Amino acid sequence: MHYYSTRDKNTAVSFADAALGGLAPDGGLYVPETIPLYSGAVKSSLGTMDYADIAFETIKPWVEADIPNAVLEDMVHSAYPFDAPLVSVGDRFVLELFHGPTAAFKDFGARFMARSFSYLRRGEGKPLKILVATSGDTGGAVADGFYGVEGISVTVLYPKGRVSPLQERQIAGLGGNISAIAVEGSFDDCQSLVKQAFGDEVLKKRLVLSSANSINVSRLIPQAAYYSAGAGRASGKQKTGLIVCVPSGNFGNLTAGLYAFKMGAPINLFIAATNINKTVPDFLENGKYEARKSQATLSNAMDVGAPSNFERMAAHFSWEEMRRLILGVYTDDEDTRKTIGAVYRDCAYFLDPHTAVGWHGVDKLRDSGALPCGPWGKGSENPLAVLSTAHPAKFAETVETLTGPVPLPDSLKKAMDRKAEARTITAEFEALKELLLGNTL
Ligand SMILES: *Cc1c(COP(=O)(O)O)cnc(C)c1O
Repeated sequence: MHYYSTRDKNTAVSFADAALGGLAPDGGLYVPETIPLYSGAVKSSLGTMDYADIAFETIKPWVEADIPNAVLEDMVHSAYPFDAPLVSVGDRFVLELFHGPTAAFKDFGARFMARSFSYLRRGEGKPLKILVATSGDTGGAVADGFYGVEGISVTVLYPKGRVSPLQERQIAGLGGNISAIAVEGSFDDCQSLVKQAFGDEVLKKRLVLSSANSINVSRLIPQAAYYSAGAGRASGKQKTGLIVCVPSGNFGNLTAGLYAFKMGAPINLFIAATNINKTVPDFLENGKYEARKSQATLSNAMDVGAPSNFERMAAHFSWEEMRRLILGVYTDDEDTRKTIGAVYRDCAYFLDPHTAVGWHGVDKLRDSGALPCGPWGKGSENPLAVLSTAHPAKFAETVETLTGPVPLPDSLKKAMDRKAEARTITAEFEALKELLLGNTL
C-alpha cells in the first residue's frame, strides 16, 4: 500500500513515511492509492467480533508492508482494552466513543499512533520529539497515548487559561516524557508556534521532530474500525446499512467513516453535523468551498472554519458523490443547550455539547424530510447512530446547568487527582525555541 500527497499524485510513500512525516513535503495530506476491502468473511462477522479484532482487520491492509501481523495484533490489544458500545437512547442508537482514558474519541487514534510510532522508530538512536498544539481534547489524548513510550517525548502547547481544569490536568499532569507549555495566547498562536518550529533550520538539525495532529494517517485509519463495529452491530440481521451522524470539526472523524464505508462496512449514509462553523454543510449545499475564520461555540472542539481533512475528502470524492453519501446540517448553541436538556428529560441520558450537535442535526434533517422518519433504533428498517465524541463529564460546566450532576467516570477521576505542571511562555517563537533547545523539556 502506497500513500500519495493530495497535491501531487506522483509522490508514493510507505505507511511508515506517511505516518512519521505527518504532512507531505508539498503541504498536502497523505491519502492511500487505493482503499482496501474487507474480506467477505470479515464483513459477515463485523456484528459479533471483538473490538480489537475488528481494529486488527481494519488496520492490517493499510500498514502490512511496515508492521508485521503479529506486531499489529499486540498493538491493537494493548491500544483497545475498552470498547465502542452501541447503546439505545430514545428513538435511535448512540455509538459511545468516550470509554478510553481521556474520555473522548481521540483516544482511538492517539493510542494506535503512539504504538505505531514506537514500533516504526525502533532501533533509532536519536529520540523523537512530538510537538502538538491543542485547544483541549487532542493534547490530552496524545499525552496519554504516548505516556511512558520509550524513545519518544511529547511537548503539548495549549492556550493558557482557555482549557478546562480537567483538560489541563490531562495535558500537564502526567510528567515523565510528556511536557506541557501554557502559551499566553490563543489556540491559533499555539498552532503557529508549532508550525514555526517545524520550519526552523536549527531545530531541524538538533532534534527529530514530528507532529500528532489529526491530519496524520496513523490517527485516521484506526478510527475506521469503530464505524465498522457500530455498523455491524446495528445492522446485524437486517439488510439495510447504518445511517451515521458524525459531529464534525476538522473532519478527520468523518473521513475515517468514509474509509470504513469504502472498505465495505454496512453504512448507507453519513450526516456531517457541525455547529455554526458550517463550511462543509455549505459546500455540500452549493458546491463552493469557502474556508472562513472559526467562531467560538459550546462545542469548542468543532470550532473549525477551515477543516484540514476536507482536502482528503475531496481527493476521494467529487461534490456529486459527496452529496449522495453525506447530508450536511448545522446546529447553533441555543439548540445545543435545548437538546441536552430535552434528551436528559426524556431519556435520562447525558449528551455532551458535541454529541448534542449531532443529535439535533438528525432531528433537523428528519423535520425537513431529508431523512427517513424514526424510530431508528433496535429492529428498525433504517438504523441510525449518533457518534458520541466525548463523555458529558468532560464538559460539565455546560451540561450540568441543563441537567444535574454528571457522574465522573473513573478515568476522569484519576485525572482530577493529578497536579498540572506546565511552563508558561509568551506567544513568541524564540521563547519556545529556547525551551526546546535547552534540553529542559
Ligand atoms: C475533535 C473533536 C471533534 C471533531 O472531530 P473532527 O475529527 O475534527 O471532525 C468532535 N467532538 C469532540 C469531543 C472532539 O474532541
